[in-house]
Amino acid sequence: MPIADFDQYCQMLSSAREGKYAYPAINVCNLETLSAAIEAFAEAGSDGIIQASTGAGQHASGSLKDMVLGAKILAEAAHQMADRYDILIALHTDHCHPKNLAPFMDPLIQISKDRVAAGDKPLFNSHMFDGSELSLDENLEISKKYMKELAALNMILEVEIGVVGGEEDGHDTSGVAQEKLYTTPGDMVATYEALEPLGKYMLAATFGNVHGVYKPGNVKLTPQILKDGQVAVQEKHSTEGNPLFLVFHGGSGSPKEQIAETLDYGVIKMNVDTDTQYAFTASIAQHVLEHQSVLFHTDDQVAEKKRFDPRKYLATARDAMKDRVIEAVQDLAAEGKSLLK
Ligand code: 13P
Repeated sequence: MPIADFDQYCQMLSSAREGKYAYPAINVCNLETLSAAIEAFAEAGSDGIIQASTGAGQHASGSLKDMVLGAKILAEAAHQMADRYDILIALHTDHCHPKNLAPFMDPLIQISKDRVAAGDKPLFNSHMFDGSELSLDENLEISKKYMKELAALNMILEVEIGVVGGEEDGHDTSGVAQEKLYTTPGDMVATYEALEPLGKYMLAATFGNVHGVYKPGNVKLTPQILKDGQVAVQEKHSTEGNPLFLVFHGGSGSPKEQIAETLDYGVIKMNVDTDTQYAFTASIAQHVLEHQSVLFHTDDQVAEKKRFDPRKYLATARDAMKDRVIEAVQDLAAEGKSLLK
């Protein structure tokens, strides 16, 4: 199927919120990780979200290190690949900090504007603006500006209120004050009031979640925070059900019961990067360990081409990552959940 259109993406998010399941949003950086994610969603019979960060964009452009070019290459490849599978994929860009708006998000939005003007779909379905390093007021002011711009293109904005801990794509928040790691009900009400009148958005509210994987006991998740925020919006604005579409960052390494708990509180997207990176690399490490005696030319031997051909171990790594994506689909109760079924 082609990449989801705006109505399909909105319906994906609403069905997930009502049905209490969520889409894994899988970070990709090359053709192998992209096809791992698409194949996993297809095998699980589930719609899904695929995302590119600024770092992934840089990587995908090779040594040009052009984050816009690389993100465009990944998105265009996804448009073509997704066409061959019978599930829906939505394309998203991950954390864009204020300093990257001009070099990353603005040019990508311009590409979508040109595509839409030519009668085509936007390049991405949604973008994330991460203004978590700003004051709430500044964060929401910039978010409002982008909401208006994206709504006019039938695109969705993700915002972050509160700070996700840990390190992602070189952005390290380990020095941030502890209380910043937890969004308050007041923050969630303020976000609803600022953005709800302007279009469709998703909110990365934080509840102690962190990017990366840590030893047990080092991360304390408090999903109840998400519930408290939803209830605060409901009470103030008399809404039915969970009013906010919430995003769970730092999905890797999270306890499965707590992942399940967040589904009751309106989480409809959970980002997974570290665990899929690990699955991919561990498979290559395994290949090297198993075949190290034939991987190098030496005075006594010529290395075995069938072992050092990158397509061999990259295909195995792709399959290992695919299995981890399917696990994420299962953790999020999304197996078999496709609008096309
Ligand atoms: P993990 O690396 O912990 O899976 O987090 C990914 C993420 O939240 C990307 O935005």
